[in-house]
Amino acid sequence: MIQGAIAGVKNLLIGMGVTFKNMVTKPVTIQYPEVKRTMPERYRGRHFLNRDENGLERCVGCSLCSINCPVGCIHVVSAENTEENRVSPGERYAAVYEINLLRCIYCGYCEEACPVDAVVLREHYELADYDRDKYIATKEDLLVYPEPNQFRVNILGNTERTNK
Ligand code: SF4
Ligand code: SF4
Repeated sequence: MIQGAIAGVKNLLIGMGVTFKNMVTKPVTIQYPEVKRTMPERYRGRHFLNRDENGLERCVGCSLCSINCPVGCIHVVSAENTEENRVSPGERYAAVYEINLLRCIYCGYCEEACPVDAVVLREHYELADYDRDKYIATKEDLLVYPEPNQFRVNILGNTERTNK
């Protein structure tokens, strides 16, 4: 009986030790959605279409991203650039560029296949919505790079405001 009591006290102390240890340890959780975690640079979240240094669309409408997409969720229709209407630096540009974000598996193959670094997957991970129609991202949606998160958690785990 005494041995049982000793074992019980020992187990109680072990349990209390775990409790006290976690009381003084920095929490791994954050106050989402007020605070948003900064994802690694190579995180594959939402897609964007880049522009070049002259403001022209980088995409030259070659469809390599679409051909390499394993689930066929990219739709590209190309058109010829003209002197009066130059959209991209190449001969052609994407007149239509759409991605079905619900079908996408965020593998990044489109990014790897693109010869001009036009399509990229970035750190934006807040993709939830109630409306399925909003998941067809058009060229106009993809060319807009949204404001970065207002708050982020830095490398030390502390919360800091960005873009003060
Ligand atoms: S990330 Fe993968 S699945 Fe999504 S559009 Fe690109 S190639 Fe297709
Ligand atoms: S995003 Fe890149 S791979 Fe896709 S059509 Fe445009 S230039 Fe070609």
